[in-house]
Amino acid sequence: MNTFTDLFIIMLILATGTQLWLAKRQYNRVHAHRGEVPTPFSDNIPLVAHQKAADYTIAKIRFEQIDLVFSAVILLLWTLGGGLDLLDTTWRNLEFSPIVTGIGVLLSVFYISNLLELPFSIYRIFVLEQRFDFNHTKPATFIKDLLLQAVIALIIGIPLTWVVLWLMEQAGQLWWFYVWIVWMGFSIFMMWAYPAIISPLFNKFSPLSDIDLKSRIEKLLARTGFKSNGIFIMDGSRRSGHGNAYFTGLGTNKRIVFFDTLIKSLTPGEIEAVLAHELGHFKRRHIHKRIVSMAALSLIGLALLGWLIDQQWFFTGLGIQHASDYTALILFLFVLPVFSFFMSPFMLYVTRKHEFEADDYAAEQANPNELIQALVKLYKENAATLTPDPLYSAFHDSHPPAPIRVAHLGNKL
Ligand SMILES: [Zn+2]
Repeated sequence: MNTFTDLFIIMLILATGTQLWLAKRQYNRVHAHRGEVPTPFSDNIPLVAHQKAADYTIAKIRFEQIDLVFSAVILLLWTLGGGLDLLDTTWRNLEFSPIVTGIGVLLSVFYISNLLELPFSIYRIFVLEQRFDFNHTKPATFIKDLLLQAVIALIIGIPLTWVVLWLMEQAGQLWWFYVWIVWMGFSIFMMWAYPAIISPLFNKFSPLSDIDLKSRIEKLLARTGFKSNGIFIMDGSRRSGHGNAYFTGLGTNKRIVFFDTLIKSLTPGEIEAVLAHELGHFKRRHIHKRIVSMAALSLIGLALLGWLIDQQWFFTGLGIQHASDYTALILFLFVLPVFSFFMSPFMLYVTRKHEFEADDYAAEQANPNELIQALVKLYKENAATLTPDPLYSAFHDSHPPAPIRVAHLGNKL
C-alpha cells in the first residue's frame, strides 16, 4: 500500500460518506414537510400532489443511496481489486499494437461499466418511474436505445481514442496540450452537431406550429432577435411523463426544445415566458461561458494527467502493475470524480446563477407571473420537491430550488 492508495481510499470514503449524509438530510427534510404544502404554493398545488412529490423524492433518494455504495464498490474493484489490471493483461496478451490494445481496453471498460449499471437503469425506469406513473418507455424502445448508444459509442469512440492515444505516444512532452486542442475541437463540434445529428436518432423534433402561439412567439423573437426556425417540440412522451424545456447547440444549430409533455399543460402566455427564459440563456451567452470554463478545466485536468503519467505511484497506488498511456487515461477518468466531488457546489453555483440571469431576462421580456405559473405546473407535474434540503441542493441542483426561484421571480412582479 502506498500513500496515494491511502489518500484515494480516504477521499472515496469522504466523498461517498458526504453524499450519503446529504441524501439522509434530503430524506429527513422532505419527510418532515410531507404533511403540508409550503405557503407560496398552497393555492396552486394540492396536498395529494405535494405528497406524491415527497414520496417520489424519497424513493429516488433510497435508490441513489444504493447506487452510491454500489458505484464505490465497483470503483474499488476496478482499481485496487485488480479489475482494470486483469483486463489490461488480457488485452496485452493478444499482442496488438499499444494503440489498438488501448482502444480495446477503453471500450471494454466503457461497455462493462454500462453493463454493470444496466440493472440500475432498468430498475429506475421500469420500477421506480413506473410506480409514480412517469414511465412511458416500452421495453423495445429501451433495448433499441441501448443498442443505438453502443453503436454511437463505437463510431465516435474509436477514432477519438485513436487520435488521443496516438498523440500521447508520438507528440512528446507536450502531448497533453495537443490532446486538449483535439478535445476542445471535438467538444465544440459535438455541441454544434449533437442537436442536428444525434438527438433526432432518439426523438422526433417538430417545429412549433400552433396558430395561437405563433403571433405571440414571433413578437417575442422579433423583440429579442432570435432565429425563429430554432424552436422545436420533442416527443418526450415516448419515454417519460416528465416535462421540460432546454436550449442547446451552437451557431446555425442553436435551438430551443420544448417537451410535448410540457407544451400540453401550459397556456400560450406561460409558453412565451418559458421561451423567454430559454432565450435569456442565449442572450446572456451562457453557452459561450460554459465553453470557456470547460476549456479551462480540461486544460488543467490534462496538464495534471501529463504530470501524473510519469509518476509510478499513480499506477501502483491504483492497482495497475503495467503503466501505459491508456491505463493512465482510464485511471484518471475513474478517480477524478472522487477528488473533484467537493468542487461540485462551486460549479453548480455558476449554473444556478445562470438560471437566475435567464429568469431576470424572461421577467423583462415576458410576464414574470406567467413564468411562475409555468414553473409551478412544471414542479407539480414532475413531482419535484418544494422542500429540498439546502445543503443537498447545493451539491446536486443545476437549477435553483423551487421556493428560492419562485421568490426571486416574485420580486420582479
Ligand atoms: Zn434555464
